[in-house]
Amino acid sequence: MPHLYDTNHHLPCDFAIILALPKSQQKSAKDSILMTTIVFSSLPLSPEFLSNISALEYKEMTPIQAQSLPVILEGKDLLAQAKTGSGKTAAFAIGLLHKLESANYQTQALVLCPTRELADQVSTEIRRHARAIPNTKLVTLCGGKSMLPQLASLEHAPHIVVGTPGRILKHLDKGSLKLDCLKTLVLDEADRMLDMGFSEEIMRVISNTPKKRQTLLFSATYPDQIKKISNKIQNNPVDVRVESVHDDKEIKQIFYEIDAGERTKAVIGLLQHYKPESSIIFCNTKIQCQELVNELWKAGFHVLSLHGDLEQRERDQVIVQFANKSSSILIATDVAARGLDIKDLQAVINFELSPDPEIHIHRIGRTGRAGNQGLALSLFTSSEKFRVEAIEEFKKSPVRIDKTTTLKTSNYQKIIPPMVTLGINGGRKDKVRAGDILGALTGTKEIQGTQIGKIDIFDKYAYVAVEHDIATQALELLSEGKIKGRKFKIRRLK
Ligand code: ADP
Ligand code: MG
Repeated sequence: MPHLYDTNHHLPCDFAIILALPKSQQKSAKDSILMTTIVFSSLPLSPEFLSNISALEYKEMTPIQAQSLPVILEGKDLLAQAKTGSGKTAAFAIGLLHKLESANYQTQALVLCPTRELADQVSTEIRRHARAIPNTKLVTLCGGKSMLPQLASLEHAPHIVVGTPGRILKHLDKGSLKLDCLKTLVLDEADRMLDMGFSEEIMRVISNTPKKRQTLLFSATYPDQIKKISNKIQNNPVDVRVESVHDDKEIKQIFYEIDAGERTKAVIGLLQHYKPESSIIFCNTKIQCQELVNELWKAGFHVLSLHGDLEQRERDQVIVQFANKSSSILIATDVAARGLDIKDLQAVINFELSPDPEIHIHRIGRTGRAGNQGLALSLFTSSEKFRVEAIEEFKKSPVRIDKTTTLKTSNYQKIIPPMVTLGINGGRKDKVRAGDILGALTGTKEIQGTQIGKIDIFDKYAYVAVEHDIATQALELLSEGKIKGRKFKIRRLK
């Protein structure tokens, strides 16, 4: 049986076989060969692995997975570029797990990420795939968290470590983490890590790893710096690039020319016209973020802002509210939005255009994920026209410019989020689990399970989303009742 996933090598011969078939069977045979190039079962993975992947409802590989997984599974170094949301995490997760020897209690895989949020997301995705292999231990190591629990979790070496470069280095220096048996090193979002000035730390981390290892480098963009670092740390990497980052197919992009001073009014117009269920509005500065938050609240919109001055707890809270649909509009700076991975974002609105076209493309890449068409709406004044031209130049095609007079607006249209978040002052440390919260809410049968949304548990606090109409009732039930036999303080988040 040839390895069908190696398409370049085998297609000609396979098609020759097809041509030898009767005409009536040619089409279906051809389809099935084309199919085998994209289904996971064409990869040399164990049956447990494959059945877990189908349990995750990953029906076929995304283009970057189809191109990179064969290379990864052969143990080669890889330099992969594909836009955000294209499934890069699963590609390296499957790759590093495939090689893992779970009976060998040493750290065999390390994934470096730019931010804590990203590290958490990557850890979650790896764990989902790791269900196929019993007893795998993964530890996430990021800054902004206390060292003690991390040190405890490293007493027995984990098979897999995911984290940010600074904190990983700290553990290496302390001797609490050892990488001398590392088999797979992954740099995720390498472009952002370099942007954030992590290159020296990355190199120091790598100096603690064996020379003979597999190095996988993933990036959404491909600046010269990436090539440079690849040369330093990789060994004959296979270069895989899938579709350009400026691919318009899934993103409808419209620019609106406005007068200076009309910006807030125009944003309200966009929100009323398009009624996005979820959107991020980008500003260039945090002061601008704060002003816009105030103005939109005044206009009756529920908005939250994500900026660099938030404490970790406040930041978690904002992301929870946005992800569980109790807030529909998030206002952010580029820096604050780093590492944020929110699914199903219907629109990205540029309140101000970024001076850098590449950042613009990055911003709008957050909409239109997983096959849904996204919407990117940008405002500019005549004095900012040159920024639009820079974007056209960058993507080598003209953009669509509309007038704000085409927007249907009305004073009565508000976007009311479907859910409300209740905050609970107890979490993982208090042994509070999602099932306990669900039980406390539905125990009296006044509230149905279907009226309860996402539950997020942190170390010291937890959040539950409930439908808007039952929020008051849910708040009373939780405040008067007990969770895990204990009373907790419950509050309704604004
Ligand atoms: P990237 O790192 O390229 O920005 P992610 O790895 O975060 O993208 O993937 C985006 C989303 O797509 C995730 O929710 C992931 O679970 C999902 N996904 C990944 N691979 C597949 C697949 N083959 N089929 C369906 N969904 C997938
Ligand atoms: Mg990613």
